[in-house]
Amino acid sequence: MKAVFIREQGDVEVLVYGDLPEPEPGPGEVLVRLYAAALNHLDVYARSGGNRVRVGSFPHILGSDMAGEVAELGPGATGVKVGQRVLVDYVIKCGVCDSCVIGRDELCRRAVNMGIHVAGSYAQYVKAPFQNVHPIPESMSYEEAAAIPLVFHTAWHCLVTRAGLQPGETVLINAAGSGVGSAGIQIARAFHCRVLVTAGSDGKIAKAKELGAEGGVNYTATPAFSKPIQEVTGGEGVDVVFDSVGASVWEESFTSLKVGGRFVTCGVTSGHMASLHLGRLFTRGLTVMGSGGRSRREFRDFMNLVHRGALHGVVGCVFPLEQAREAHRLMEDRDFFGKIVLRIP
Ligand SMILES: [Zn+2]
Repeated sequence: MKAVFIREQGDVEVLVYGDLPEPEPGPGEVLVRLYAAALNHLDVYARSGGNRVRVGSFPHILGSDMAGEVAELGPGATGVKVGQRVLVDYVIKCGVCDSCVIGRDELCRRAVNMGIHVAGSYAQYVKAPFQNVHPIPESMSYEEAAAIPLVFHTAWHCLVTRAGLQPGETVLINAAGSGVGSAGIQIARAFHCRVLVTAGSDGKIAKAKELGAEGGVNYTATPAFSKPIQEVTGGEGVDVVFDSVGASVWEESFTSLKVGGRFVTCGVTSGHMASLHLGRLFTRGLTVMGSGGRSRREFRDFMNLVHRGALHGVVGCVFPLEQAREAHRLMEDRDFFGKIVLRIP
């Protein structure tokens, strides 16, 4: 099969387009013929070794977001049919540890990630446990479907499970143009929240408005964005800040919180060190929380809204699989809105 793989970690030149053997589905596994794979920052770390990400073995196929058609069922695989259009959840839970058995699979310590520990999505075929394979709406393109799993799973986990988002709250979403940002806007709107955003350009803010944001601040032009956020909220601030940017926006994000507000992070693309004003934290009753593992139940919950048409994958641009190097370069430049998708021949 055609695939993009790496034989060692390094810069974009380590990405090789070539042939690898087709995987064979084992017990409980589904073979999926892939037509689209979406990129995440995780792919860049898996390729480069950044943030100490190590991959399973070489040659290694990158990619954690994917959509295609069920090609074959291994012994005992159930829940989907050959020919069915599907997307794949990239986290494979062990299913037998204490956490999995009591239904807290987000805490599974033996989980492995497709695209990191085992083969991922930059290929014509992939195998996955049947529990990880989810049908998609008939009218949805493979490119859109591939743009959904990881970012919606992350944004749902952060906003709904961790921050406990309530209908009608005001949410500030940083990096509106990122995959998790564009997913977060839609989830917050599905909860009838007021959505404000920050982004690195006016064009990205305009696109965030198309997804349902009320307005936003360009933090390149206005680095002290907490001031305009305070102004449009009548001096109160926001209930929830959802962030994936990290150090460069921490201070302004924290200052944008309302009394009793919650800050939830799922990324540190600009750096991971920040100082915390403990005085403001305790007197204002603020909460700062991280993301952590995500559950199968959360995956099912947001997929229900995908099937109802309330959530959509946001495709920023599409490259043919063989141009994975160009796609990775664009990912590192960050000059795009939504997801970068590889179309698989
Ligand atoms: Zn487990």
